Amino acid sequence: MEIRRFVSDLLQSNTYVIEENGRAIAVDPGRDVLPARGLAVDRILLTHEHYDHISGVNAWKDAFGAPVLCTQACAAAIGDPKRNLARIFDVFCELQTWIRLKEKPDADRTFACSAEETFEDVFRFAWQGHSFRLFALPGHSPGGAGILLDGSHFFSGDSLLPGESVELRLPGGSKRAWEEISLPRLKALPDGITIYPGHFAPFTYQKA
Ligand SMILES: [Zn+2]
Repeated sequence: MEIRRFVSDLLQSNTYVIEENGRAIAVDPGRDVLPARGLAVDRILLTHEHYDHISGVNAWKDAFGAPVLCTQACAAAIGDPKRNLARIFDVFCELQTWIRLKEKPDADRTFACSAEETFEDVFRFAWQGHSFRLFALPGHSPGGAGILLDGSHFFSGDSLLPGESVELRLPGGSKRAWEEISLPRLKALPDGITIYPGHFAPFTYQKA
């Protein structure tokens, strides 16, 4: 298995492509990081509904014909530029100061997309000899999810970023959901697994 990371020019968000036996699963496809056609993408997984993590969904669906899987709350939000925050991209850039932008990237403020498969709380599937477990992580956004691969690789979206505390001030953010639902779930993950965050490079999980 190989996990490749692509960094989008849109807020330096990470797209991950997991490859095995010539097939692939994509996480958070970016608009400007489309791999060559011919890659066999079985599923597109989303960590949450924010525009900078879904900007390539339509292009990747066109190119690869893969279904999108995310939480129900994420699916409800990605189809609405207000709720996926594309509409307020400027405010969004200003809040995410930790990204340290040289200049504000161009945004499609009308961007919307859709999901083919959704789940409410937990979703498991097997793929090419690997196991995936997705579970809801509300707080940073209503539709957040963590994606655990083989119990040892965790795609965290913006719920775990290296050296940064989670941003709960964006529209739809909830400190209460974060503390009551998501924090206990993150604390239940074992030390030493690899975290693949929504921004910045992967790192080793060490609970404080
Ligand atoms: Zn986000």
